[in-house]
Amino acid sequence: MAEEVLKPYLVTDPQEMSERLDALRAQGKKIGLVPTMGALHLGHLSLALAAKNECDVVVVSDFVNPTQFAPNEDFDKYPRALDADLSLLAKIETDFVFAPPASKMYPSGFDASVHVGGVSKILEGAFRPTHFDGVCLVVLKLFNITRADIAYFGQKDYQQVAVVKKMVADLNVPTKIAMRPIIRERDGLAMSSRNSYMTDDERKQALVLSRALDAAEELIKAGERESSVVYDKMREIIATAPDAKIDYIRIADPDSLLEMDRIAGNVVILEAVRIGATRLIDNKLIERKS
Ligand code: AMP
Repeated sequence: MAEEVLKPYLVTDPQEMSERLDALRAQGKKIGLVPTMGALHLGHLSLALAAKNECDVVVVSDFVNPTQFAPNEDFDKYPRALDADLSLLAKIETDFVFAPPASKMYPSGFDASVHVGGVSKILEGAFRPTHFDGVCLVVLKLFNITRADIAYFGQKDYQQVAVVKKMVADLNVPTKIAMRPIIRERDGLAMSSRNSYMTDDERKQALVLSRALDAAEELIKAGERESSVVYDKMREIIATAPDAKIDYIRIADPDSLLEMDRIAGNVVILEAVRIGATRLIDNKLIERKS
């Protein structure tokens, strides 16, 4: 007989989600939230597992948020896989999946916005000017609906974590923000729901992202301090992929994300590269003593 796995409790109504969590909070339960857009992979599951380790109740939100996509972006083709997501989350005994229809998050007449300046304007913000407003809007709504104690985010979207931390600080939001490491495929490609867009050939070419970051780390750990030298090496590696086009590569301060021409102390290296029609991002934190 097939093993019976209890699926997470699926909630689609924000009010119901709040009420169920209020009842658990009243019992003293600590609530962990993992915001996702679904099409789950091990990167998402690692966040749900971290939440499970540290909290009593785990909510994974599964919502392809329309407000963080620009009209020319991939909202329509973004993968949706709620049934498969529920099965995966059942395996790690997630308590709740919150998967509202867009009409419940943004009912007719909805007219609010959340804008965080500074760190949201550079890098991804320069290429996707409305993206972080949409992210902040949905994340703040999810925080208010769940009133989670801790929300878990992946380092994969490093700048997103910086923007959400700034929003939480500026708006006195009580939810704590936890960042967890990037989960990669065996060959180094950072897991992403968007990886499924690529052809086999593009998938091979996409390895230049992680290879460029590895080479950069090697140079820096060997003592290189000129960012321009590291950029040259990264560009050389990325150029070996015929369909790769760099949106940006940036060696930056891990907190402000401002560019560092000379490397001193800890740095984060961030990159966005298009492989054919698929836009990929990746990053690496490099911790050094000087
Ligand atoms: P997404 O569904 O792409 O919006 O991602 C939801 C959350 O999962 C975000 O906090 C991401 O940073 C995180 N995430 C996505 N891919 C990975 C990965 N490969 N490793 C760790 N976290 C990830």
